[in-house]
Amino acid sequence: MLSLMQDRPLLISSLIEFAALYHGDVEIVSRSVEGPIHRYTYAQAHQRSKQLAKALGRRGITLGDRVATLAWNGYRHLECYYGVSGIGAVLHTINPRLFPEQIVYIANHAEDRLIFTELTFVPLLEAMADKLDSVEAIVIMTDRDHMPETTLPNAVCYEELLAAEDDDLSWPQFDERTASSLCYTSGTTGNPKGVLFGHRSTMLHSWAACTQDVLGLSSQDTVLPVVPMFHANSWGIAYAAPMCGAKLVLPGMALDGKHVYELLDREKVTISAGVPTVWLMLLQYLQQSNKTLPHMSRTVIGGSAAPQSMIEAFERDYDVTVIHAWGMTEMSPLGTTCNMKAKMAGYGYDELLPYKVKQGRAIYGVDMKIIDDDGNELPRDGVAFGHLMVRGPWVTNGYFKGEGGQVLDDGDWFDTGDVATLDPEGFMQITDRAKDVIKSGGEWISSIDLENVAVGHPEVAEAAVIGISHPKWDERPLLVIVRAEGSSIGGDEILDFMEGKIAKWWMPDDVAFVDEIPHTATGKIQKITLREQFADHVLPGAAE
Ligand code: AMP
Repeated sequence: MLSLMQDRPLLISSLIEFAALYHGDVEIVSRSVEGPIHRYTYAQAHQRSKQLAKALGRRGITLGDRVATLAWNGYRHLECYYGVSGIGAVLHTINPRLFPEQIVYIANHAEDRLIFTELTFVPLLEAMADKLDSVEAIVIMTDRDHMPETTLPNAVCYEELLAAEDDDLSWPQFDERTASSLCYTSGTTGNPKGVLFGHRSTMLHSWAACTQDVLGLSSQDTVLPVVPMFHANSWGIAYAAPMCGAKLVLPGMALDGKHVYELLDREKVTISAGVPTVWLMLLQYLQQSNKTLPHMSRTVIGGSAAPQSMIEAFERDYDVTVIHAWGMTEMSPLGTTCNMKAKMAGYGYDELLPYKVKQGRAIYGVDMKIIDDDGNELPRDGVAFGHLMVRGPWVTNGYFKGEGGQVLDDGDWFDTGDVATLDPEGFMQITDRAKDVIKSGGEWISSIDLENVAVGHPEVAEAAVIGISHPKWDERPLLVIVRAEGSSIGGDEILDFMEGKIAKWWMPDDVAFVDEIPHTATGKIQKITLREQFADHVLPGAAE
């Protein structure tokens, strides 16, 4: 027997419609690339999203067409989120930090019809314009006064595009399984692959994000996503904020400690989200300038493992609770968040820390398990580690246009490519990416654990650990260090510091110092490049 409940489709347009109606005066504050801080409200954002939707319709953009953005976090980008997906077209958020050849590849692969971009990226697009096969026009998100001289063949001024339309539009209704946005992930091998989100998956994910045990976003919050809107929809915040009526602060391109702090302070931000490298810059700025974070109650750290030293700095020095989070673009992206349980209320901080460094508990809606190489499920004892498998209504089914082939096993499980433990309380901890784990004498060493311990030293700015081949042990760890400014610390001092904090046989065989550690377009340590850089490195005592 089917229920007698209404079968209204879950559509992204309803988020901005709701925010405009019930939180119409709540602000969206953006640092524009033109310079000034821009402020307006959800009501205005809704109006302008409808104007944009009409402009797209006038250009023949319709259900399923791809419309790209190459843009920072800002109000016009947000309007694209709702204007494009609202009419059933697909918003393709391109990561501008990709190599130009990759941008060309994904724009062509996605068959983008339009690209909405910022002033910052006009030169980048000019250099590749003749290779963009399907692009009919490039919309520069600025006003007439700021329109640049450009060689782009079909440049359109965003504000002029909008000015030509009114906001008399009822959002169309369609199947909630319709694709809404597209985001390419750059694997370390092969071409980037497109993750195609839908209206239903996005709505369910947004609901989850707002719940107390996930991000706990609400109308009481002012949220600043430092995580870019081109990185898995700013981890879903661009949708979750209007769903709950949270004030939204969008930082544009200025992501250094000083500029992020300025917004956190002036706008009284209560919750923020970003990758560890961004928080490192903020913490350095706070320490150097003796500033505090009186308004902020929590910050989400994800994308890479949050080191214990970073968690302690936020919690002990600034009274900001860290929500360690794990996920991936293929999961929309939230998979786990690290919130404590009621029974831990009486724990001392030192008892909580071992949980806080973990990536957290599964969110309702995400099934998780770990398996060995033969597919057998491993115990949830916090010790056994294996391939982390997930499934759920906001986990991908397969990549755009079938790239990468079949990605699910018989039980619909998706292999995350991560290796993890699951403990009896349900907390998951990432050991490594499967391809980064160091195999020493038949056992595995977690590069993440070693990095976390090393960056705990105050004279270490950043640490990366890679496996170097070894005649006896197969692989042994090499610790690569970027020293903190002004430091001349030596390798032995760092190894002494690590002693007692890790198993003896995990101790790196050597320490190398570099000026910079390479990062991917989403801020992760680029181990493949490091491995190439140190391909000929011979560990002490390892010469055959
Ligand atoms: P992306 O799709 O770019 O968001 O990358 C997803 C991958 O980032 C995951 O599969 C993990 O390897 C890594 N990742 C994300 N969050 C964390 C975290 N909190 N700790 C460790 N690794 C993480």
